[in-house]
Amino acid sequence: MSSDSVRSWPAVLFCLGLFVAACLSPDQARGVERSLRGELKRVLLLHSFGREFRPWSEYARDIKAELERQSPWPLDIQEHALLTARFNNPGPEAPFVEYLQSLYQGSLPDIVLTIGAPAARFAQRYRARLFPNTPLILSAVEYRLIDRADLTDNDVVVAIRNDFTAAFANILQLLPDTRAVAIVIGASPLEKFWMEEVKRELKPMGERLELIWYSDLSFEEILKRASSLPPHTVLFWGLMSVDAAGIVHESDIALRSLHAVANAPIFSYQDPFFGGSTVGGPMHSVAETSSRTVSVALRVLGGAKPSSITYEPLGFAAPRYDWRELQRWGISESRLPPGSEILFREPNIWERYRWQMLMISAVFLVQAGLISGLLHERRRRRLAEVESRQRLAELAHVTRYSAVGELTTSIAHELNQPLGSILTNAETAELMLRAAPPDIDEIRQILADIRRDDQRASEVIRRLRSVLKKTPFEVRDIELNDTVREAIGLVSAVADGRRIALAYMPVLADLHVKGDPVQLQQVVLNLIINAMDAVSDADMKKRDIAVSTMRAGSQAEIRISDTGPGIASADLANVFNPFFTTKPQGMGMGLAIVKTIIEAHHGAIAAENQPSGGALFTIRLPLIR
Ligand code: ADP
Repeated sequence: MSSDSVRSWPAVLFCLGLFVAACLSPDQARGVERSLRGELKRVLLLHSFGREFRPWSEYARDIKAELERQSPWPLDIQEHALLTARFNNPGPEAPFVEYLQSLYQGSLPDIVLTIGAPAARFAQRYRARLFPNTPLILSAVEYRLIDRADLTDNDVVVAIRNDFTAAFANILQLLPDTRAVAIVIGASPLEKFWMEEVKRELKPMGERLELIWYSDLSFEEILKRASSLPPHTVLFWGLMSVDAAGIVHESDIALRSLHAVANAPIFSYQDPFFGGSTVGGPMHSVAETSSRTVSVALRVLGGAKPSSITYEPLGFAAPRYDWRELQRWGISESRLPPGSEILFREPNIWERYRWQMLMISAVFLVQAGLISGLLHERRRRRLAEVESRQRLAELAHVTRYSAVGELTTSIAHELNQPLGSILTNAETAELMLRAAPPDIDEIRQILADIRRDDQRASEVIRRLRSVLKKTPFEVRDIELNDTVREAIGLVSAVADGRRIALAYMPVLADLHVKGDPVQLQQVVLNLIINAMDAVSDADMKKRDIAVSTMRAGSQAEIRISDTGPGIASADLANVFNPFFTTKPQGMGMGLAIVKTIIEAHHGAIAAENQPSGGALFTIRLPLIR
């Protein structure tokens, strides 16, 4: 291998590395680029109150994470916390300064980044001794707390601006009835400074709002008071690093204990306290400050002159609110200023069980659809049933006319008999009246006979009228033995005339069924007329028809049998079909109507041949009691 090719190896590897970097994600690529460049940058991060002290801990965490993510160089971030800021009477800082001095002697950091006002002050005060030429970035510091006289060309300030007027106006906007604000604040010099600032800034609101200061109370006492605040009072969370009793607090834990006992809503202007304890409003945004700080740090590390970078202090970000707190204190969303963001909204039951609810609703809808469909169908069926019953009633009426036509002679005979005896009796009575003295008792007897015959004739006419009456199908509670008896009454004379023995054997118990008496009479009438036709056959020696009723379990039974030739076995299955007839002048509608009427009464009819000969028709109807 030549010495030239050995020399060109690093260049080849670098190019290869860049190629690999091009194939990776931006973050991975930056990592590869960093290790290729190999320029380690040293960052000294100075905390104000300790690493876990809110709100500054949040700023520091964010800045550090973003810096590591975005830096094109490998970073060595060293963190130190200035604990002395947390005491009411800060002790001597000299030992801490000496410690830092010995630590960084000979290997100064590339930048010093301070978080919060106490760290900024410290860095400004001791920079000459500790890191004279190192650029200083003072971040997350309120602009009023910057020592402007001590700023140099080597410093960049990423300042924030507390707008207490806006923070308190937010309280009044949300809860217009607020009369007093209890301000929770500790007793460190920094907190005292802020107390004065707030008082000064809120002077114009003095008439409308009473400010109650908890700065000279122990935190324990603050908790006690916060749990029984009078109505229309709210709490404002300033800061709690050290209370009046000298007890040091972690702000976050302290705020949570306050939230647990307070009987009023808590407001704050710091983003890191938002999300669990405070209602919300316009607040500082950690993300905004962090991103500005990181961009400044990267520019300075890249060689930019700090004096060339200047910014206006960052104000509050757009207001944000905690939905849970709004609910808890009954603050309507309509009171929130336009452009507000509501966070931590708990999904309602509908949002939480969306799929399940959708499924259940779908099932309900399908079920409701089915039910309404079925109801509609049932209604249609009912209407159709009523319609068919009306038609049936009409048809039955017509066929009754034809049946009655067949019975005309016998009916005339039925009527003639009583009318004839009335005439004879009347003539006899007249003759008897001529006698002197007339036999009054005999005449009275004759008149009674006349009345009886008249009633008999009227009865025949009544029955005839009732069977010919055009009535719609109407159901009522009827006694079946009587209904059958009336039908038989209509044909008995015909049977007599044709020399047919028509016997009726009703059961000795009432048979209550639900039905239309006229329709059921027609059934019996049709069956008896058929039976009479059957036994009238010239060959028939016996001319008997037997009608009987009985109880068969929960059903009433009517049996109509005759001594006719019976039904040919091939016809048994067809006799109930419409237009089936074996008679030359038959219409074939009698049994079809009978079957339809019986089925409309939820009953059944069967035809069979008796072993002794002749047909037997059995009707069954449900009993109602
Ligand atoms: P139609 O009497 O007009 O023929 P039906 O429907 O009343 O119409 O009767 C149908 C047929 O059933 C009759 O033609 C007959 O063949 C048979 N039938 C009905 N009743 C009897 C009976 N009691 N004995 C023998 N056959 C019968």
